[in-house]
Amino acid sequence: MIAYLECTGTGERYPADALMGLSPAGKPLFPRYDLDALAETFRPDTIDLSRADLWRYAPVLPVVDPSDRVSLGEGWTPLLPAPRLSRELGVGLCWIKDEAQNPTASFKARGMAVAIARARELGVKAVALPSAGNAGGAAAAYGAAAGLEVHVAVPSDTPPPILEEIRMLGAELHLLQGLISDCGAFVRDGVERHGWFDLSTMKEPYRVEGKKTLGYELFEQLGGRLPETIVYPTGGGTGLIGMWKAFEEMERLGWIGAERPRMIAVQAEGCAPIVEAWRTGADSAGFFENAATRAVGLRVPSAVGDFLILRALRESGGGAVALPDAAMEHGVRLLGKNTGVFASLEGGATVAAVLALREAGELGPEEEVVLFNTGSGLKYVGAEV
Ligand SMILES: *Cc1c(COP(=O)(O)O)cnc(C)c1O
Repeated sequence: MIAYLECTGTGERYPADALMGLSPAGKPLFPRYDLDALAETFRPDTIDLSRADLWRYAPVLPVVDPSDRVSLGEGWTPLLPAPRLSRELGVGLCWIKDEAQNPTASFKARGMAVAIARARELGVKAVALPSAGNAGGAAAAYGAAAGLEVHVAVPSDTPPPILEEIRMLGAELHLLQGLISDCGAFVRDGVERHGWFDLSTMKEPYRVEGKKTLGYELFEQLGGRLPETIVYPTGGGTGLIGMWKAFEEMERLGWIGAERPRMIAVQAEGCAPIVEAWRTGADSAGFFENAATRAVGLRVPSAVGDFLILRALRESGGGAVALPDAAMEHGVRLLGKNTGVFASLEGGATVAAVLALREAGELGPEEEVVLFNTGSGLKYVGAEV
């Protein structure tokens, strides 16, 4: 149960059950829990093993009443050892966290399951969001499961399988010319006019809570420890920010010490605001003009949580890499033939990033690396961006 909401900019606190978007300071809000009290009852040996989904971590999730949960089987995806891929890449051991096995075939399911359940618990009837595609599909699915009205605004060049998914799940699909930032403007207008609850990335407090379960899962699936390095394809950065939050919580709960994995953000050369900010040592990122990449999940020219991403990269001793689409495609092929996982371009990007970092000498030959395949390659078939 949440103790309070906290502004990630000012540290100001707000009531646990307030329905809020960004804080008054315009920064993301983090749900905070009474972790010192929870440490007594929520331990690795008391995790609810009967749930093969992310609700096994319910004590650190914001949904209060178990009957308010919305579930389609999200989370608890396999962490697959990939020894042949590891040899190909020249690292000690690669694990693939296969998030394509979530409902709607991408890891957006995690955030949406929790955010939509919590929004409904707080009385919301209609939600809306701009999406590069997968967030829209997941919102449509969980909105349908929860019985909420869902509005999704996507760029008109979104991959056809995702458009079909959103339509078939009963959401209102708004196809717009332009980028996700233009879709954002459309949603803000609808929020003002119709009172929709805005589910935009990092603009409400709960999607990050669903995504943070990635961090708890890695710990559990590795037998009670964290990996050396995590490579994450970064758009809005919810999963990276969420995992970083999970590690902080796990330390407060007494599950781990001060050790942290190195966090590496991967972006597309055609849209790399975080990588540019990382290179210049900035605390926040500028707007990336003329964003273009076929990895639609990475086509995010400006991220509200940029400072949180950059902080995690810095505090973890990690880094940020930008790659051309062709390298991501090569990564998809390498991953496919060496593991049997048909990844999205974003998943392929993590493989390409390991190759690039090995060549640059920034990853050692004994390194243990977790690669995130954030979505299925099947969702992009027929895309012509
Ligand atoms: C949304 C998305 C990403 C980026 O995730 P963020 O948490 O926004 O950084 C990566 N891959 C896929 C397939 C996505 O749908």
